[in-house]
Amino acid sequence: MKGKMKALVKEKAGPGAALIKADIPEPGPHDVLVKVLASSICGTDLHVYNWDRWAASRVKPPVIMGHEMAGEIVELGAAVKRCRTGDYVSVECHQTCGQCYQCRTGQAHICTRYSIIGLDTDGCFAEYVRVPEANLWPNDPLIPPETACLQDPIGNAVLAVLAENITGKTVLVTGCGSIGLFAVGIARAAGAAKIYAADIIDYRLNLARQMGAAATINPLRENVAAAVLEDTGGCGVDLFAEMSGHEQSIHDGLKAVKNGGRAALLGLPQDKVCLDLANEVIFKGITLAGITGREIYATWYKTAALLSGVLDVSPVITHRMNLEEFEEAFRIMNSGACGKIILFPGEK
Ligand SMILES: [Zn+2]
Ligand SMILES: [Zn+2]
Repeated sequence: MKGKMKALVKEKAGPGAALIKADIPEPGPHDVLVKVLASSICGTDLHVYNWDRWAASRVKPPVIMGHEMAGEIVELGAAVKRCRTGDYVSVECHQTCGQCYQCRTGQAHICTRYSIIGLDTDGCFAEYVRVPEANLWPNDPLIPPETACLQDPIGNAVLAVLAENITGKTVLVTGCGSIGLFAVGIARAAGAAKIYAADIIDYRLNLARQMGAAATINPLRENVAAAVLEDTGGCGVDLFAEMSGHEQSIHDGLKAVKNGGRAALLGLPQDKVCLDLANEVIFKGITLAGITGREIYATWYKTAALLSGVLDVSPVITHRMNLEEFEEAFRIMNSGACGKIILFPGEK
């Protein structure tokens, strides 16, 4: 398909982005061209937009931003076999090598040579995006685009929360950005006995309650570990899901998790974190798990099944905006007073 399209581009090193007319990409032999119906802004996009230290070390402009999407296939590469034009799809944004030890042993989400759509190659904050056939996920037509585009971050939370059976167990989620909010909803859907959610922004704690948190804690007003320990009879929670990246939250959660419990760490700290390993981890017999990406595609099957059934993420979708409104969208993201912001390149 020849022509121009709207695209939100990180043009150069530095804060901000520009909405430009870009060439519609041409699919290579194993790619398809996807018409984007909805995309969502990720914390990663905010790092790139603000151009913090991490973004400056990771991203090489120019690149079209965005990696969370749902859309329709409009063109096929010559060697594409499985899909057809008109298919309704979402996209796994990690392009994995297929050759390394991890890829060949079913752990492609921690591939040692991966690249990411919207960071390393052009992304989906545009009318069209080129995607390798191997990265496509077929969507249930009953799931609307504004929800289907969220499967990437919901998958992060699924991987963090459902690594072990949590039915009838207690959970603490620190950091109620969208992945934290999804984690609360997933724990609820999986039958967790009681979910505690902590965040310094009350707006997000309100969303956490809507997603199923029975107790919310604002660390600016209350000691998180003390509140959780008191409510659990001094025992602590079975699962601590850390989604904020703040050092204090990590210490709070390690104190609040019970001996023998599990800590799933997903939030990225800005700086190095100093742990008292002996007392915070070793003597408590805690399992510390780093969580990144989604299992390809085991997590996608779980995520899609949850969305088709017991998981309602609609409270997390707080803003629906056109691509042209990107500056306002990123301003709201920076304020923290939001759940997920959906961007529509076409009609809302
Ligand atoms: Zn994301
Ligand atoms: Zn690999």
